[in-house]
Amino acid sequence: MERPVRSLKTELHTPTRIAIPQQLGCALEQRQSCCDGIGYRLKANGSLTQAVICECVMKCQSCFGLNRRMVNGVSKPCHTPAPARVASLLNAAYLPARYSAAKLDSFSNFSGNGREVVNRVSQWMREFDIENPKGLVLGGSVGVGKTFLLVAIAKNFANKGISVRFVDFFQLLLELKAGYARDKNDSTVLNEAIAVDVLFIDELGKGRNSDWELSILDQLVMGRYNQNKVIITSTNYDFKPSDRVNMSNGSLDEKRPGNFELDRFESLEARIGSRIYSRLVETSDLIELTGEDYRKRNLAEKIQPSRGVRR
Ligand SMILES: [Zn+2]
Ligand SMILES: [Zn+2]
Repeated sequence: MERPVRSLKTELHTPTRIAIPQQLGCALEQRQSCCDGIGYRLKANGSLTQAVICECVMKCQSCFGLNRRMVNGVSKPCHTPAPARVASLLNAAYLPARYSAAKLDSFSNFSGNGREVVNRVSQWMREFDIENPKGLVLGGSVGVGKTFLLVAIAKNFANKGISVRFVDFFQLLLELKAGYARDKNDSTVLNEAIAVDVLFIDELGKGRNSDWELSILDQLVMGRYNQNKVIITSTNYDFKPSDRVNMSNGSLDEKRPGNFELDRFESLEARIGSRIYSRLVETSDLIELTGEDYRKRNLAEKIQPSRGVRR
């Protein structure tokens, strides 16, 4: 006997053999405290965030973790997207464990324009259309919360079933070098970063920006640009164009400084070159985040605890 081809249509119309009480909804609808109704929990696995399916999903009286239930005699997904799918997207995202709890509504650096930026980012996310996507470049100095926002956005996309990959550009270069050392043609890491629905690059422009490093960035940005896929990125560098960059031919800036020092006043364009910069600007919203460095916020109190000085 020929096996029927599995399709969404047959899945939807094939009655399940298990008799399941119809009055029960998905366990996630009850928004239990175990996971607040998202169906997975996040924990640190080394330096990365790991998602594990919550017990409430496995104990769901409608689907017993299989994510299918009967509605009016028809088998339907218990929850969309399936918690298992979201968890696997998060596990493939390489989110830094330090920010695993990041959520837009728990962002707290409101010493600058944080509140306004959270509102703008929320608006940008609501308008995000995967068919016609718009990227985002989040600027701001060290410690204002850019990485936090990036991770919060990545989690939000994964919750909608959109595949994401979080890349620390420095780390990506190391992985590429390791890959090339094993096999000269190993571009798996790069291809994965080009193929994912939404790519996140933290700390754009940081590093030596050697010709090799910029050629990798160029492959990433152009590879995605040509597929109408966007990049969500953060940078410590200034959005304003730089007179140090040769604007006319779009070539990489020969005069860019080769030091490792972060210079807030140096432009992003000078760091990554006009060609990459102009593609990013063309496809993205640019948002500048201001505020104090949260890592230094309580520094005065830490330095002089005995005096009880409070500011
Ligand atoms: Zn749960
Ligand atoms: Zn269920």
